[in-house]
Amino acid sequence: MYKNLHFKIVVILVVFTMAIMVAVGAAMLLSTANFYSETFTSQMESAFGEESDLMFNLIQAFDSDDFYDKQNEILKAYSSSLGIDNHRNYYVLDTNGGFLAGSDAILGAHLEITPNIVSAMNGELGSQSRFWEDYIDYAVSISSGGKTSIIYVKDTQEEMRSFTMMIFRITVQSMFFGLIIAVVLSFFLARAITEPIRKLTVGAQRIADGEFEQSIDVRGNDEIGTLSETFSNMKDVLKNTLDEISGERQKFETLFLYLKDAVIVFNRAGKLMHINKMAKKLFEFKSPESDELMKMFTFSAMINLLQIDYREVSEKYKKSKNYIVNDVIYKDKALDVTFADFKYSENGETMRGIMCLLHDVTGRYELDKSRREFVADVSHELRTPLTGIKGAVETVLENPGLDEETKNNFLEMAVEECDRMTRIVGDLLVLSRLDNKRTSWKIETFELSRFIEHICDVMSADAKAHGHTLTCECEPDIPDITGDREKLQQVVINIVSNAVKYTPDGGRISIYARADKNFAVITVKDNGVGITEQDLPRIFERFYRVEKSRASDAGGTGLGLAIAKEILDAHGGNIVIESVVGKGTEVTLTIPWHCRLESAGGTHSN
Ligand code: ADP
Repeated sequence: MYKNLHFKIVVILVVFTMAIMVAVGAAMLLSTANFYSETFTSQMESAFGEESDLMFNLIQAFDSDDFYDKQNEILKAYSSSLGIDNHRNYYVLDTNGGFLAGSDAILGAHLEITPNIVSAMNGELGSQSRFWEDYIDYAVSISSGGKTSIIYVKDTQEEMRSFTMMIFRITVQSMFFGLIIAVVLSFFLARAITEPIRKLTVGAQRIADGEFEQSIDVRGNDEIGTLSETFSNMKDVLKNTLDEISGERQKFETLFLYLKDAVIVFNRAGKLMHINKMAKKLFEFKSPESDELMKMFTFSAMINLLQIDYREVSEKYKKSKNYIVNDVIYKDKALDVTFADFKYSENGETMRGIMCLLHDVTGRYELDKSRREFVADVSHELRTPLTGIKGAVETVLENPGLDEETKNNFLEMAVEECDRMTRIVGDLLVLSRLDNKRTSWKIETFELSRFIEHICDVMSADAKAHGHTLTCECEPDIPDITGDREKLQQVVINIVSNAVKYTPDGGRISIYARADKNFAVITVKDNGVGITEQDLPRIFERFYRVEKSRASDAGGTGLGLAIAKEILDAHGGNIVIESVVGKGTEVTLTIPWHCRLESAGGTHSN
């Protein structure tokens, strides 16, 4: 309480008022005393001046023997001009200061020898006034015709004292009332000054607590009013800035949470600060118990999990503050991991942390991988027949003595390899056109029964050659189908020829066509070698063959099913293979009644 501004202002104002009143009172007392003494001195000087009548008469009085009586008489006559009253008396003294005559004989008999009397005894004028004495006096020595007397006037200053006492009393009374008025006024004045400050303080406290809606009710044209207005403006600016910051923060948080990439933020000590949904998913922090585990998840733990070289990262990171490690394989994913420097504030200090962005590049990685594998496969597939051709031709060239039949065998082998190469290149061209959507489609509407019959005709010789029984059946009244007849034929022939190829001689192969609601369904079934469970999902990959040598012997390129799938996809259809090793394979083709080749980017020609 004693330290608050209100109290201080009251005390300062009261002390100030008191000080002024004391000073004024003291000045009044002093000037009263001064005035009294100056008035006395000047009155005496004019009365006892050398040219004055009183002086002339006093000197004349020395002519008579009882000059002091005469002088007493004269002084009595001049009583009023000397201001003689109850408190002021005049005396005629001899040269030793002894009383001769005067206005008060009793006082005169006990007269004290004052410094001014001593001066007069020495023939000098005694007119010194001493403010510490309770009297004021004036002594003048006069002499004529060998006679000398000292005229002495003494004032007890009773009048002056009662006057100054009165002034003192008035001053004390004024001080008392002044004190009360000063206290009351200063209280209200201090209140007028401190109240707006108090309101401002309350307002500032509210702002500090985040209450921006409350307005600060301090008005006025003075400095406090201006301060309050500035404060209100500052509050509005602060609120807008905070709103903007919190908006940005919300945006950032939403982005952070729902970002498709995993983001993890570590502090300077490598401890986890933030982790987004994707990162939790990636590192499998799913269950509520994993929260504790997550807290232990440090930067080095993450680096270890991802099997990244810590030394390499820290060296590169030191140089650029931003470093990317590509194609980090974690579980079944390929990731590009970016390490970025970031600043944050902790206990008012600026710190540097590390932000890790884990971008899933599995798609790109797989594509690159399959491209690389594809190029390697193509090279390998083309090299094999080339080696065969070279070997056969070289044998013929290096052995001119070979008999005609052997020579022909070698040359036929070379031709066969050439045909194989041609098939591979042809299939690759077909796939490349399908991939680049540059295949020209010939759309026509045709009878499905005739389509199946035709395939049967084409494949029967081949099936017969292997001793297979080929049966072809079509649901009665099956509707016509619209699509690229030739390419669909190529697909079914490929499937049937696979059945022929991969079924031991004397097998059973059936082709059956039926109508579904939206699709024509063609099933090719055999009782051949079948395909293992592991091979089945990879069967549509380019150049994938279950048993390379067996497939090559059978004349396969490993591209037939890949082409079939692309053609059916382009038609909006599908191909499903079910197989049991040693029992047989069933391939089901679904083809929409009206193909969607437009959407596949193909060209129509009817
Ligand atoms: P290929 O030209 O070698 O026949 P495909 O793409 O048509 O190539 O077939 C891929 C592989 O699938 C073949 O190499 C073969 O091993 C297997 N395959 C396809 N059809 C059958 C089937 N009916 N029975 C057993 N294996 C099959």
